[in-house]
Amino acid sequence: MVIIIKFRNFVILLIFFLVTFSSNYIQVSALYSEKINKTLYLTFDDGPSINVTKDILKILKENNIRGTFFVVGDSVNLYPHLIKELNENKMCIMPHCNIHDYKGIYKNEDNYFEDLNKCKENINAIIGNKKMNFIRMPGGSDNEICSDEVLSKIKGKILNDGENYIDWTIAVGDAENFEVSAELIKSRVRDEGGLYNVEVVLMHDSGVKKSTVEALQDIINIYKERGYTFKALDEIEPWEIEYLKEINVLNK
Ligand SMILES: [Zn+2]
Repeated sequence: MVIIIKFRNFVILLIFFLVTFSSNYIQVSALYSEKINKTLYLTFDDGPSINVTKDILKILKENNIRGTFFVVGDSVNLYPHLIKELNENKMCIMPHCNIHDYKGIYKNEDNYFEDLNKCKENINAIIGNKKMNFIRMPGGSDNEICSDEVLSKIKGKILNDGENYIDWTIAVGDAENFEVSAELIKSRVRDEGGLYNVEVVLMHDSGVKKSTVEALQDIINIYKERGYTFKALDEIEPWEIEYLKEINVLNK
């Protein structure tokens, strides 16, 4: 009798341990797999342009990758077919500014939002009501053209409107001089890329950025070798949002 009771207790204890251990295991493994996930967001500012955007789209399509394009409203009006083509090929289109005029847009909060809203209207006029909840501010969210006071008002309103402003973990350097070689861009990515589990790469698809096109396949290869999954910002997950906030890339 005693043996039977002990055996029953043993079975109950065994079940208890198994349930506890397996649920812990699932939690731990979920956490672990989340930690080793590495995501890459390729972002392109200042387009669309006749010379560069199509070539970038071609490379992204060949690699089955979705990129994020922070477009200039004026260029959207000039080249509506390019925006349509980006959209038809499932690229993510987000606003950058309407006219790339730092002094004008950063003069005050009203100027900034008038320009940003025009950019959104121009995009919407071509591809319909897209959710545009990620904004790339010209020069980045801590640019030195805008006064701190105006800058903090702009950022506050973007967040109040339920939108986000996003910077980058690495700038490939294609906008730092008029002409930057593809080799220099690639070596920048090799040296400075891959530090974070979520990376946002800043590139440009304005009309003169031919070396960006030349370097793009190698940039993709470098990140593929490092185990990154490529995504566009309209598919960002909550843990990635928190991660980017922590490293001061999102809503800084
Ligand atoms: Zn720009």
